[in-house]
Amino acid sequence: MAEYVVYGDINCPFSYALHEMLCNQNLMHRVDWRMVEHDAISSSYQGSAENMAELANDIFNIRNRAQDITIALPRTLGDSMFPSLCITAAQLIDPERAASFLRTLYRALWIKGKDVSSPAVIYDALEEAGLPTELDIDNACEETLLCRQNEWEASHFGLQTPVIQAKDGRRLAGFLNQQAVLDFLQGAEINQELTSNTRQQSQMTIAIYGDEKITEIWGVLSTLRNESNILLPQSMQALHDMLLSQERCPDLILLNNSGQHRDLNDICRAISHLIREKRVPIAVIGQPISDSEEAELYDLGISDYLIQTRDPVIIRARINILLQLKSAHDLLSKAASIDALTQVYNRREFERCFETEWRRGQRSRQPISIILLDIDNFKAFNDNFGHLEGDSCLQQIAATIHESARRAQDLVCRYGGEEFVILLPETNQEGARTLAENIRQRITGLAIAHAPAFDNKPVSASLGVATALPANRDASPRQLLQEADSALYKAKHKGRNRVELFSA
Ligand code: GH3
Ligand code: MG
Ligand code: MG
Repeated sequence: MAEYVVYGDINCPFSYALHEMLCNQNLMHRVDWRMVEHDAISSSYQGSAENMAELANDIFNIRNRAQDITIALPRTLGDSMFPSLCITAAQLIDPERAASFLRTLYRALWIKGKDVSSPAVIYDALEEAGLPTELDIDNACEETLLCRQNEWEASHFGLQTPVIQAKDGRRLAGFLNQQAVLDFLQGAEINQELTSNTRQQSQMTIAIYGDEKITEIWGVLSTLRNESNILLPQSMQALHDMLLSQERCPDLILLNNSGQHRDLNDICRAISHLIREKRVPIAVIGQPISDSEEAELYDLGISDYLIQTRDPVIIRARINILLQLKSAHDLLSKAASIDALTQVYNRREFERCFETEWRRGQRSRQPISIILLDIDNFKAFNDNFGHLEGDSCLQQIAATIHESARRAQDLVCRYGGEEFVILLPETNQEGARTLAENIRQRITGLAIAHAPAFDNKPVSASLGVATALPANRDASPRQLLQEADSALYKAKHKGRNRVELFSA
């Protein structure tokens, strides 16, 4: 008897990811894999644009959470009933071969993008697994499938797939990541709250937006979907949100528009300011248009006009050129925004982000805080140990600050010399003070020996904190910096190695 029962759906990408991971880890022998049909998936994913968008999102998440699992957006999802019946029938006659049949089918759908409800695909998979190609799907088989479906529906899994059910009553629903599954199989209870979705993958992301079904450009998509992430925003608002998001911001927007030249112009106009800011290239795939119409689109900021009827190989090559340019641009702009010695952001980047965050704060009416940090008596440190030691001390302190400011939107920058600035959007005074105090303690915790004149005290820093409401008319970025500076001055004045808040 297997130690674990898993309820999985052929059409559920998370079930596939779990299955693939268990296979890769040689753990399938511990599992009794039972097919169920997730109604919501089966009925909704079939073709409707919205649900393909959701599916693209799910695949994006899986690639993020489990980078060694190969998965790509399929063209469509067929009815899961027939493949589920065949898998169940195979499990009843030959569990070992059924396991290999199941893997072949999962991979046919989620890697090769085949329609696994098609008899031809099932036939090939049966043959590959060494099973009889004329599977006998009798009443017993149908009853088994129904019975498993009832088990899954009756238990309180919240109708999620996949679910792993352990003999001791523990269960794990969904697919968080590989480590969570491994821990669970070691006997741990898993906190089902999702871990952060920060972008880790190196693949480029293409957002496809337009009024055509993705099946219309499948020729192109089928080659891109493996090497790039595909996202399918369903509205201008969704595209807008993606451009503003950290994790989901696309590297290329592909406008896939069936017709109206005017519509295309409107779309380009609506996103042009964001595109310039984010420097995301736009390519349009469409019908042949006049030169003047095409020129107008270039004026509006698109990078290429691709004619839909051209060979997908050509379209794909041109898309790849745009992606390469984007990637080279990202590398360069990253290099230009990073301080070479300490690897945190430089002052230029601080100024750029400070301005953006200030404007964001005006809209959101949220506070913004900054911390100015200056290393204490650093001149004496350099005079005593030399500049190389000084540089290494700066690096350690920069790394410590970077580790302390953990929220995605926090920005750590070298402001100059031995001074750092930490930009904290949506952070009030109390939050900023807590972080500043934490940084101060961690720096002394590094226990870097200071020059002998300082009585064996470790290297320390002084920090000034200031907070403002950008929505407040009297506030300005310049003033906020001055306030942080005057708080820092107070900290120095009061004896260094301390945090001071600005007060008028
Ligand atoms: P205070 O506590 O008042 O801040 O005293 P301080 O000595 O830290 O301040 P001061 O501004 O007099 O000196 C800053 C020193 O920081 C000067 C220089 O020796 C050192 N410094 C600035 N940039 C670098 C750098 O890139 N590398 C090294 N090794 N030292 C630097
Ligand atoms: Mg200084
Ligand atoms: Mg100093």
